[in-house]
Amino acid sequence: MGFLESMVLAAAVALAIASPMTGSFLKCWADRAAVGKNVADGRSYCDHCGQTLAARDLVPILSWIWNRGRSRCCGKPISPTLLSAEVTAMGLAASALLVLPQPFWLLGVATAWLLQAAVLHMLTERRLAVLFVILLTALGLLATWQTGGDRDDALLAAGAGAVIGMVVQVLAPARGTPAVLLAPAGAYLGIFGLLTVLPLALGYGLMHRVWAQITTGGKAAPALSVAMGLAAGVWTLWLFNTVVAG
Ligand SMILES: [Zn+2]
Repeated sequence: MGFLESMVLAAAVALAIASPMTGSFLKCWADRAAVGKNVADGRSYCDHCGQTLAARDLVPILSWIWNRGRSRCCGKPISPTLLSAEVTAMGLAASALLVLPQPFWLLGVATAWLLQAAVLHMLTERRLAVLFVILLTALGLLATWQTGGDRDDALLAAGAGAVIGMVVQVLAPARGTPAVLLAPAGAYLGIFGLLTVLPLALGYGLMHRVWAQITTGGKAAPALSVAMGLAAGVWTLWLFNTVVAG
């Protein structure tokens, strides 16, 4: 193995190991934004009693399992959505590294985590979510360029997705927010993909409803399931297209 290949492999392993922490960070960012706090404000603390958390409480996934989903300070249950966010980020990074050809690893992981960041902020900090969506759309166009896809088709689809997203926003301001994801969907998938992703998104959205019912007793907002479904649809269809094209 050459020097450059070893470096890329090392970077990939580092990304995979860091991925649950990314999920934990994105979730913490979204949760704090929801209550008007800054993610950079001080150390991690218990949501129930406010006590500063120790390093052993902050190991993603493992801490949750070790403490059986309860906080060590006051024994209150920790939301299973924290564990979901950590596992999701790890699954996204792992699927990118396992499925995509090496030149697209960084692009893939950046796409995955931007999608997750957009979904996590979608219902609470809309402006931030829209910023992530704009970055995603630009990255999606870049991805189409890099993978040798049809540039005009991607531009047209991104534009169409953006227009549809804005119309839905006007018609349903409160619940229509996830439709902004149609712009990056077009950028990554093109016109045909934009149409194909809708039934896929519906399936994923329904799966999220069932999952939310099991883990939180159905307290997740329907718009969150729509956002999750669309993001998951874009992710899997893009992975599939990229592998087939490669
Ligand atoms: Zn506590």
